[in-house]
Amino acid sequence: MSPARGGCPGLRLVVTRLAVHEESTMHDHRKLGRELGLFDTDPLIGAGLPYWLPDGAAVRHSLEEYVRRLERRSGYRHVNSPVLGKRDLYEISGHWAHYRDDMYPPMDVGGEQLVLRPSLCPHHALIYRSRGRSHRELPLRIAELGGMYRAELSGVLGGLSRVRAIHLNDAHIFCTLDQVEAEVAAALAMIRQAYDALGISPARYRLSLPGDGGKYVAGNWDRAADILRSALDGLPYDAVEGEAAFYGPKIDVQIVDSAGRESTLSTVQVDFHQPEQFDLEYIGPDAAKHRPVMVHRSIIGSVERAVAQLVEVHGGAFPGWLAPVQLRLLPVSEAEVPYAREILNRCGDVRAEIVAQGSLGARIRDGRLVPFQAVIGREEVAAGQLSVRLRDGSRVDAQPAEDALASIREAVRVP
Ligand SMILES: [Zn+2]
Repeated sequence: MSPARGGCPGLRLVVTRLAVHEESTMHDHRKLGRELGLFDTDPLIGAGLPYWLPDGAAVRHSLEEYVRRLERRSGYRHVNSPVLGKRDLYEISGHWAHYRDDMYPPMDVGGEQLVLRPSLCPHHALIYRSRGRSHRELPLRIAELGGMYRAELSGVLGGLSRVRAIHLNDAHIFCTLDQVEAEVAAALAMIRQAYDALGISPARYRLSLPGDGGKYVAGNWDRAADILRSALDGLPYDAVEGEAAFYGPKIDVQIVDSAGRESTLSTVQVDFHQPEQFDLEYIGPDAAKHRPVMVHRSIIGSVERAVAQLVEVHGGAFPGWLAPVQLRLLPVSEAEVPYAREILNRCGDVRAEIVAQGSLGARIRDGRLVPFQAVIGREEVAAGQLSVRLRDGSRVDAQPAEDALASIREAVRVP
């Protein structure tokens, strides 16, 4: 298997198998994802092209909302750019020369060759270049949760962790050389903050350097690697040769799946190459033109791989804000269904459902992954109350329905 020298950021799965801890409780996301109705595939759509069912889409949208909020609070501006670009664009960026094996063949459209993009970097470089830039605008942080494509061989595809159509949480920071180290450190801090909120933890940090015989561009690799090394100061990490992107070294945050396979989720990269290729400039305080540095970074990697990891780590018992269903209303009998409907209408942003069929015990067991369940009997209806059960089986005393809903809304708010 070829090493991760690909586009931004390297999502290439590494074949190293780490020993899975014996009492590991991780689940295979492919099996659990289907059981929970999160995603599926169809041979007519094709391998490596999963579709998201409503519950999976709810998890994914909450994750995307979280990331966009985190980025907005951290000084990023969001953009949207197309998933296609002319072949010439990737000739300039270097992807055509260094990364073509992982790209889909060009499509001939009206005498032009269009390709599905293998990364978002070139589009963002052009957005930067779309007008003159002053040093006062730097660091300029451009973020996008956008589509990109990788021509993976069918033998390596699996569930959400190896796919052909990828939605990447990507961003590019255009900054002066003096600002690079602080930007890399800030990106690492965002990664730690996001992992805390998601309840996942890195297996290790990796400093990915170029190796022998790789298809790497010429450039100032040592300086970029030194910047990354100093941002990693104080964190345990391994330096690994042969894992860099073709245009620069990177910090990879590695995760391990239920089978003990290691892969890259998050990444921070320093790039002197693409600013040169796209002739990016800013006007400095000296009124002269200068070249910015490009920092590529992804906080949660691809949405697909992030959700695969969340399913495996939590076994479907997602943190409340990510749970596809956050509240289940369980009327004891048909007589309580109208009250349950009234409560459902007052749920607002809380993702809630009524489950009225089957024995109460079976319904409670079926909902064991749902953060909140409320059994609705005659007393609750008469008093206008809700009695809430938590996932661990503990119960909250009956309280006025509006108070219970307010607590649940607070508990499932996207952090
Ligand atoms: Zn990039």
